[in-house]
Amino acid sequence: CAGHVNWDVTLRVDSLPDPDGEAAVESRVAAAGGSAANVAGGLADLGVDCSLLGSVGGDEYGRAARAESSERGVDCDALVTVPDDETTRKYVVVDPSGEVMVLGCPGANEAFEAADLPEGVLRDADHLHLTGQRPETAAQLAERASEAGVPVSFDPGRRVGERAYEATLSTVDYLFLNDREAALAFPFDASDSDGRTLVLKRGPDGAEVRTGGERIAHPGYPVDAVDTTGAGDAFAAGFLAGAVAGESHERALAVANACGALAARVPGARTDLSRAAVDALLGA
Ligand code: ADP
Repeated sequence: CAGHVNWDVTLRVDSLPDPDGEAAVESRVAAAGGSAANVAGGLADLGVDCSLLGSVGGDEYGRAARAESSERGVDCDALVTVPDDETTRKYVVVDPSGEVMVLGCPGANEAFEAADLPEGVLRDADHLHLTGQRPETAAQLAERASEAGVPVSFDPGRRVGERAYEATLSTVDYLFLNDREAALAFPFDASDSDGRTLVLKRGPDGAEVRTGGERIAHPGYPVDAVDTTGAGDAFAAGFLAGAVAGESHERALAVANACGALAARVPGARTDLSRAAVDALLGA
């Protein structure tokens, strides 16, 4: 998994701060975050071997982010430390209705380049998952993976509408988008042409796969949602765990929706996934 690696602090507040900054903090969770770290951690939880690719600063937040992902079972050997930079930090403020405000600084994530990827990593990989890195980095990583014959998935996030992402969107094998992002990327209709598989996330309504003219929808799992931050990352981990194991799209979609629902149930971007928790939802 290549892309953002952060240190996240999630604050649950009684209301989003007004212009005077008034809001009472009810709980505070600090954990490794960033979309690449979230997906890699979810995959490791589900028993899939994976490496985390990205960059952190040479500060205590970077050391904590690396340690947490390693403890979760993610290989962090290729995670770059940029000694003179700060680790990207995000403050996620969530009110009781689930409204979210994200504050943060760009930090070391911006320093990550395709050239940082050690040669052997792609040679030994079955799959490369890209998350919101800079457009040039995404394009170069996708190209290197294609040359190595490694399938690529991409979850570009909210910057998907930028022209600089266009080339990458049309070359990857799997593209993950939520409804908002799909409208930005494909203003008329989200298309699965060019041999690409589209995975469209629909929040509480589940998700849909579009591939080779076929559409497979799954309604998702109803849960009491507390905070959907990181739901898309947990979803991607569930889907990719199935895809790399050669499972059907129907099965991968069901597992992905279960993982997304599990993430919506807990505060913060980190969700500890397990086969048992997924199976419990699938069987329900
Ligand atoms: P993103 O987090 O990338 O914006 P979504 O909000 O669509 O994408 O959430 C990703 C996935 O998480 C959904 O496809 C679904 O499986 C699950 N999910 C999100 N919100 C809920 C919810 N309120 N209830 C159940 N599942 C949810």
